Amino acid sequence: MPIKVLADEIVSKIAAGEVIERPASVVKELIENSLDAGATQIAIEAQGGGVELIKVSDNGTGIPASELELAFYRYATSKIGNLDDLEKISSLGFRGEALPSIAAVAEVEISTQTSSDPMGSYMYLKKGEVVRKESRARSQGTTVTVHRLFRYFPARLKFLKSANTENSHIAHLVSQCALAFPEVKFTLVLDKRQSLRLRTTSNGDLREVVSEIYGSDLAQRMLKAERNDGLAKVSGLISPPSLARSNRNYLSFFVNRRWVHSPLLTRATEEAYRGLLMDGQHPIAVINVSLPAQELDVNIHPAKAQIKFCHEQTVFSSVQKAIEEALARTPIASSKAVPFSVSSGQWQSPRMIMDNEPAFAVAQLPALELPVLRVLGQLANTYIIAEGPDGLYLIDQHAAHERILYDRILAQWSHKEVEVQGLLQPITIEFSPREEETLRVSKEFLAEFGFAIEPFGNRSYLIRAIPALVARANIIEIISALLDSLASKESLNPWEEKIAQSLACHGAIRAGQQLSNEEMRELIKQLEQTKQPRTCPHGRPTMIHLSAYQLEKEFGRIS
Ligand code: ADP
Ligand code: MG
Repeated sequence: MPIKVLADEIVSKIAAGEVIERPASVVKELIENSLDAGATQIAIEAQGGGVELIKVSDNGTGIPASELELAFYRYATSKIGNLDDLEKISSLGFRGEALPSIAAVAEVEISTQTSSDPMGSYMYLKKGEVVRKESRARSQGTTVTVHRLFRYFPARLKFLKSANTENSHIAHLVSQCALAFPEVKFTLVLDKRQSLRLRTTSNGDLREVVSEIYGSDLAQRMLKAERNDGLAKVSGLISPPSLARSNRNYLSFFVNRRWVHSPLLTRATEEAYRGLLMDGQHPIAVINVSLPAQELDVNIHPAKAQIKFCHEQTVFSSVQKAIEEALARTPIASSKAVPFSVSSGQWQSPRMIMDNEPAFAVAQLPALELPVLRVLGQLANTYIIAEGPDGLYLIDQHAAHERILYDRILAQWSHKEVEVQGLLQPITIEFSPREEETLRVSKEFLAEFGFAIEPFGNRSYLIRAIPALVARANIIEIISALLDSLASKESLNPWEEKIAQSLACHGAIRAGQQLSNEEMRELIKQLEQTKQPRTCPHGRPTMIHLSAYQLEKEFGRIS
């Protein structure tokens, strides 16, 4: 085929495919237009997963009759005028692509009225062409109705999921918009069904929107996060560690109130919860970052869901700190009872009930502190049984010791006071090529933690000194585990935490090891002094607590 410039019509369809991927993309573009037009009320309706009908009405500025046709031209926009504007975009839209792209893949009706035009105007477009245009009265604002989306695009229709799935994408999208704009009243009706309604109040209170979307119980327990670092202003609501979820669907990030997918902000958030959640658990967060417009680039992808920060590290640490502060400010009541199922005789993990924690009237302890515990004995050479002011505690001796060692190792390292144990008789150890490579790049880190390792020819090495805190453990095992963990790409933790974690794990007393009363008491005393006595460095619980209330309940003393 000879080379030729594609006809405008084809070009607009290619681009439409990028912007309009599915019905929810149409809803997104239309809502963004309404928000840019300063609307305070936006009503969204969809039928058949958005394929049959999508209707978005707003009470924004409206479009002047004289400009209505122009709005459907490609790259026609009222939001930027020159290249400079592109550097500092403050509106949600700016590419002038949405309306023409939607009109290229569906039939579109639009009716609009400004405050200055004497009469509103109405237009009907089919395959991107205006087929009817007339004056029509309406109140100020704009309504766009999209019929038969993708009807002439069977390939795209086939790619769509069931109407229910597309509906849920739309609902999710509208929820995110509502979270970003609590002062705007959103209503959503899907397939005319009452049950699929969303209605936010527009009083500007984020907690109320969260309550509408995730339920009032959850909304009440969310913690306020706020921080102003000059460059980045962070604000939002985050979950206490006890409200974790098993996936990342509850993380909502906005930058200058634009809903974004940002691996950077996800990581910053998860970083703030490190050590507070178990593996596989994720927080709930609704976070907006406000930045001067020239601090970011949103013109990366047609759907504008990706952004680039000029100062990534600054944004990252502002978000992380805002969340850490919120978590630290609010003592979390975590001395809730753990259900004990008599029939199965199984302890359940405390996490499993966190979501519906009963409102037990127990003494509320700050999460991070332990009450004074009295050791009663050891169970299965693995758990320490202890009594506290509010019931029974079962403590995992390995996990508890891991927490103690981890904190101490990191403390010694950060104060540059690592206790080193020299070996009278150096140990010879032979490394695999991979281990040797890891050792080469991490030798200095290891030295900072108290390891003295010298080459001894032929992949053999001499260990001359080790950290005193783990001196009693199996040294060869500790070193190979350490090199493994340093080589692993899975964990994004900084190297010092990887080292401390690995040392703590392999240096800690094992399950199955018998302990004297004296040793158990000492262990608990040391655990009380750690900053997070209730979780091990991997985020697993160090203890299970059965409250006095729960005991009485299980024994039928109270009902
Ligand atoms: P963009 O939003 O990138 O400017 P669009 O194709 O989405 O491009 O819209 C084109 C123009 O139409 C906008 O710049 C705006 O002037 C006008 N417009 C679209 N929707 C609305 C609306 N709901 N209210 C007021 N003006 C609108
Ligand atoms: Mg737009």
